[in-house]
Amino acid sequence: MINLDTSQDLNPLEIITIDGPAASGKSTLGQRLAQALGYLYFDTGVMYRALTWLALQQGISMTDEETLAALAEKVPIEVTPPSKEDGRAYDVWIGNQDVTWAIRQPQVDDNVSIVSLYRGVRQALSAQQRRIGLRGKVVMVGRDIGTVVLPEAGIKIYLDASLEERARRRCAEMQARSQNVNYEEVLQSIRERDRIDSTRDIAPLRPAEDAVYIDSDGKDIDQIFEAAMQIVCSRQKQSS
Ligand code: C5P
Repeated sequence: MINLDTSQDLNPLEIITIDGPAASGKSTLGQRLAQALGYLYFDTGVMYRALTWLALQQGISMTDEETLAALAEKVPIEVTPPSKEDGRAYDVWIGNQDVTWAIRQPQVDDNVSIVSLYRGVRQALSAQQRRIGLRGKVVMVGRDIGTVVLPEAGIKIYLDASLEERARRRCAEMQARSQNVNYEEVLQSIRERDRIDSTRDIAPLRPAEDAVYIDSDGKDIDQIFEAAMQIVCSRQKQSS
């Protein structure tokens, strides 16, 4: 657990966490919620992806824990408002290089869960995430946000969907970006990522005890958004 000072006037109800497996719709929901509430949207998966992309570029072995952890300590990842109208919700930068789409390549998908296993990597990236989260008015999305990064968050959502539904959604996203799509390969890749993410020793994917579980199978984004907004409004009303 990363210990950073919590601000005196931190309002836990202004920290919303959304955890869940790959392609469960966390990013779309997170963006909608953040926009509706005027909060910052922060997708922590971007950081693990950016680190993985850089390690692949530099030819670092995915089993070289020490070098990956050292890279996590110093990699200058920035997430800024979108500079192009090409379907992106934000820019992701490593230094002055725009890696927004590069981090979505299948090679990154296939390696990111391995990089995310390592303690040193998680410590470095989680500390940065926690620092951002503790500023408040934030919707933070990931795997371990409600359990490890921001356990004091006042509103925690765990968004789930069946493997098949998630693979279909991921294929549709890839098609929209004109990427080659093979449903079976996408399904296998997500299945493997789920397996590694949920069985790792450090910060495994699981719902926080105080998270509200939403099953998004058969629901469209408007219905999921409505369900999440109800949770947010009822929590915020209860405490006022
Ligand atoms: O959310 P996304 O699918 O982009 O995340 C990519 C990978 O990054 C996940 O499969 C997981 O291995 C890792 N991750 C993590 N903890 C987070 C966010 C992402 O381990 N908080």
